[in-house]
Amino acid sequence: MTQERTFSSFGFHDCLMRAIDEMGYVKPTPIQLSAIPLVLAGHDVMGAAQTGTGKTASFGLPLLERLIPFANASASPARHPVRALILTPTRELADQVHVNLQAYCKYAGLRTACVFGGVDIRSQADTLRRGIEVLVATPGRLLDHIEQKNTQLSQVQVVVLDEADRMLDMGFLPDISRILKLLPRERQSLMFSATFSPEIKSLAANFLNDPKLVEVARENSTAKTITQRLYEVHDSEKVDALMDLLEEDRCEEAKNILVFVNSKITCRRLTRVLDHNGFKVDSIHGDKTQDERLKTLEAFKSGDIKVLVATDVAARGLDIAELPVVINFDVPFNAE
Ligand code: AMP
Repeated sequence: MTQERTFSSFGFHDCLMRAIDEMGYVKPTPIQLSAIPLVLAGHDVMGAAQTGTGKTASFGLPLLERLIPFANASASPARHPVRALILTPTRELADQVHVNLQAYCKYAGLRTACVFGGVDIRSQADTLRRGIEVLVATPGRLLDHIEQKNTQLSQVQVVVLDEADRMLDMGFLPDISRILKLLPRERQSLMFSATFSPEIKSLAANFLNDPKLVEVARENSTAKTITQRLYEVHDSEKVDALMDLLEEDRCEEAKNILVFVNSKITCRRLTRVLDHNGFKVDSIHGDKTQDERLKTLEAFKSGDIKVLVATDVAARGLDIAELPVVINFDVPFNAE
C-alpha cells in the first residue's frame, strides 16, 4: 500500500473534517491509519502506542463519528446519556484528551465533560447532571460521581482505557473493574498501552472481545548509548553467523550475552548447539518454572552462565544492569 492516505479517505462526517482541518492535521499518523478503520467498523482494539503518536485522535475521531447520529439539541438530560467513556490514569492526561476531543467535536453538536479528583466535585456534578455524550474521567472520581448519582453508565456504547499500563501501575485495577461492571455488555472496548505486561494482557483478555491489535513503534526509542547492527543472513546460516559473532572480540570479552529467540523450540535447539560448542549457556522460556528461571538468571548475572538464550515472553521484566550484548536471533514479534 504505497498510496498516500488522507483523512478524507476515512469517510468522516463533514463536521469532523472541518475540525480536523482547523487542528491543522494534514496526514493521519501511523496509529491513526491502522486504528481508525477498525474503530469505525466497530471492532474492539488493543493499541500499543504512547502519548505523542496521535493516539487520542486514533480513537477519538472514529468514536465521535459513530456518535454523531445521537447528537441533539434537546435540553432534557435524558437525551444526553453518556455514550462514550474514556478512562485515563491522571488528571493531566484526562484534561489533555478532553481538550482534543472538544476540538474534534466542535461542530458535531455532542456534549463532552472531563472529571478528575483533587478539585471541587460540585461543578463537575452540575455538568454531568445536565447530560453529556462523551465523558473523560479518572477512575476514582468517576466512582465518586456514580455513588452520588450524578451520572450513570448504562448507555455507554464505547469505552476507552487510555494508558492502561499506567492505570494498573497506579493501582486502579479494582476501580476499573467496578466501572466496567456498570457498562452494558454490548459495547465497543478499546485499550491503549505503551507496554504489554502479563497484567495488561490479562486485563485485555477480560475486557476486550476478539480485539484487533494495532501497534506503532515509538519514535526515537533507541538509547543513544547502544550501537545497533543488522546482519542479513539466510535462515540456514543463522546458527553459523551467531557462532561467528560470539567469537568476535566484543563478545569474547563480554561477561553476559543475551540471545532472544521467538520460540521455545529454537530456544532449546540453540542452547544445545551452543553447549556442544563449549559455551557456558542456559535458557529461559515459558516451560521452565519460576524457580528454574530465577536460578538461571542468578547464574547469568554472576557470570557462571555467559550466554542466556531466552524467548521474549520469559524474558519480560528481566533486570540486568549494564548488559553488554543483546542478540535478536529472530526478528522480535513486538518491536518494543
Ligand atoms: P497524542 O499522541 O494523541 O497525545 O497526540 C500528540 C499530538 O499530536 C497532539 O498535539 C495532537 O493534536 C497531534 N496530532 C494528532 N494527530 C495528528 C495528525 N494527524 N497530524 C498532526 N498532528 C497530530
